[in-house]
Amino acid sequence: MQYSRVQGYDKGMLYFLNEASDALFSSLTMEDDLVFDRISHLIVPHLADWFAIDVINPDRKSLKLLTLAHKDPAKIRLGYELRRKYPPDLDSEIGLAAVLRNGVAEMYQEITDEMLRGTARDKRHFELLSSIGFQSVIIVPMKSRNVPFGTITFVSTRESGKVYSQDDLLLIENFANKVAIAVDNHRLYKTAQNEITRSKKIEEEIINLLQESKMKQEWLDSLIRTIPGIVWETKLNNDNTQQLTFVSRYAEEMLGYSRDQLLSLNFWWSIIHPDDLGDMETTSKRTYRKGFGQHQYRMITKDGKVLWAEARSQVLYDEGGNPRGMRGITFDITRMKELETRKDEFISIASHELKTPITSAKLIVQILNEYSGGLPEEKFFAKKLDDQLDKLTVLINSMLDVNRLQAGGIDYKNELFDLNSLVNEIIEDFRIATPHPIVSHGHVPYKINADKERIGQVLINLLTNAIKYSDKDKKVDIYLSATEEAILVKVKDEGIGIEEKYREKVFEKFFRIPDPQIKFISGMGIGLNIAHQIISFYKGKIWVESNPGNGSLFCFSLPASLRAS
Ligand code: ADP
Repeated sequence: MQYSRVQGYDKGMLYFLNEASDALFSSLTMEDDLVFDRISHLIVPHLADWFAIDVINPDRKSLKLLTLAHKDPAKIRLGYELRRKYPPDLDSEIGLAAVLRNGVAEMYQEITDEMLRGTARDKRHFELLSSIGFQSVIIVPMKSRNVPFGTITFVSTRESGKVYSQDDLLLIENFANKVAIAVDNHRLYKTAQNEITRSKKIEEEIINLLQESKMKQEWLDSLIRTIPGIVWETKLNNDNTQQLTFVSRYAEEMLGYSRDQLLSLNFWWSIIHPDDLGDMETTSKRTYRKGFGQHQYRMITKDGKVLWAEARSQVLYDEGGNPRGMRGITFDITRMKELETRKDEFISIASHELKTPITSAKLIVQILNEYSGGLPEEKFFAKKLDDQLDKLTVLINSMLDVNRLQAGGIDYKNELFDLNSLVNEIIEDFRIATPHPIVSHGHVPYKINADKERIGQVLINLLTNAIKYSDKDKKVDIYLSATEEAILVKVKDEGIGIEEKYREKVFEKFFRIPDPQIKFISGMGIGLNIAHQIISFYKGKIWVESNPGNGSLFCFSLPASLRAS
C-alpha cells in the first residue's frame, strides 16, 4: 500500500484537535463510554466522517473496539457489523495490524475500489467496505512507554470529499499521542480504581471476619463464663515444666486471686497444698502418657481456706504430634468431699453401733446352743443363725476397715511370713466353701516382712471376686513370682470380665459395675478398695487386665524391699 503525504494545512483541524486533547485530560474519572463519546464528538464530523479507537486485548491476538463514531447512527450500525463479521486480521501487512506492529502511522490519501477489493475477504465484505465510502484514511498508533497498545483511525468519506494531507497526519499524530496518554492514563486510573475497589472489598471482608471472630470469641467467653469451674490451658516448656497460659474468670471467684496473678510465673503451683504437690507431678506425667487425666488435690485460696479441687485434663499436641500443653477444667469439690467425710463418719459410727448387738446376739446363740434340748433341728437353726451373724460381722468389719484404712487408723503389724504358705492356707479354706477349682503356680523364694493378715485380706478379696464373678465350674489360678524389684501375685479367673472404662474405677470406694449380670451377686464395692489401700500402704501397685466375657487377671506387686533380710 502506498504511503504518501500531501500539502495543505487545515486551521479548523488544529483548533479541534487542541480542543479535543484539552477535553481528554479533564476526562480521567469519566466512565469509559462518556470519555469516548466526548472524544468522538470533538472529532466527528469536523475532522473525520468516521472515527475509531481500538486497543489490543490482553491476549495480544485480537482488538477491542473502544469507540466507533459517525454522525449518522445507521452508519454506525453498519460499521459495527463490518467489525463484527470481519474483525481486523492482526497478521495483515497493512492497516491496523501494520500500525500496531511497527508503531508507525499510516496514511492512505486515496482509497480506490481496487484497494477495497484487495482487502475484502468476500462479497459481503466488499459491499460493507464500499458502503462506508472511504476517501482518505489515517491510522495512528497509541503508545504507552513506546509500546503500541492501540490505534486511532480517522476516515474521510467520498461524501465529504476531504483528502488528508501530510500536515493533517502530523497534527493527528500529535493528537494521537495525547489521546494515547489520556487513554493510557484512563486505563491506569481504571486499574487503580479496580485495585482500590478490590482492596476495599478485601478490607471489608477482613472487617467482617474480625467481627465474626469477635462475635465467636464473645460467644465462647460467655459460654466459658457459664461453666462453674476454672477453664485453663497450660504450655509445656522445653524443660518439661508447665506454664499456665489461660484461666477463665471463674478462677477469681473460686480462688480470690486476679487472673493476672494466677497467670504469673509458677503462681498456680504455689497455691497447691504442699502435701499434694508430689502427687500432682506424678499425675501430670501420667496424663501426658495417656493423653487425658482426672485428679483431685487441695488448693489454698487467697483468704487461706483449703478447698478440694478436681481437675479434668486433656493433652494438646502440636502439628508434629508432640505434646505442647494441656487444657482442662478444675471444679471446686469441697462440698462433695465434706459430704463424703460425713458419709464415712456415719458408716464408721453405724458399724460400731451394729457390732455391739451382734456380739450380744452371738452370745445368745451360744447360750441357746448350750441350754437347748439338744434336738438336731435346734442345733441346725442355731448354727444357721451363728453363720449369718458371722457374715454380718465380716460385712461390718469390711465397712469399718475401708474407713479406718483410709483415715490411717489401722496399725500394720510387721511380721515375717511365707507368702507361698499363706496362699496355700487361703486356698485350703476356699476349697471347703467353693466348688471352683483353685490352683496355685510358682513361688516367692523368700519370706517377707509385712502384715500377714492384711496381705491375706487382699488375697481373700481377689479370690472371693474371682469366684463371685464366674460360673461354678470355672477355674481360678494364682501365680506367684519374684523379680529383682518386686514380688508379683496374679489371680486369674474365667468369669464375666471387666470393660476397659471400669478397670480403674473398680478400685474406688463403693463402686460396683452397673451391669445387670451382677445385680444379684451380693457385694458393697469395698473389697477392691481395701485391697488397693493395703497395697498402696506398702508402696506396691494393684491393677486389672481384662476383657468382657474373657475373664479377669487381677495383679498386685509389692516392692522387693519387703524381702526378709
Ligand atoms: P463387690 O463387693 O461389689 O464385689 P469389689 O470392690 O470387690 O466389690 O469389686 C468392685 C466391682 O468390681 C464389683 O462390684 C464388680 O463389678 C467388679 N469386679 C471385681 N472383681 C471382679 C472380677 N473378678 N470379675 C468381674 N468383675 C469384677
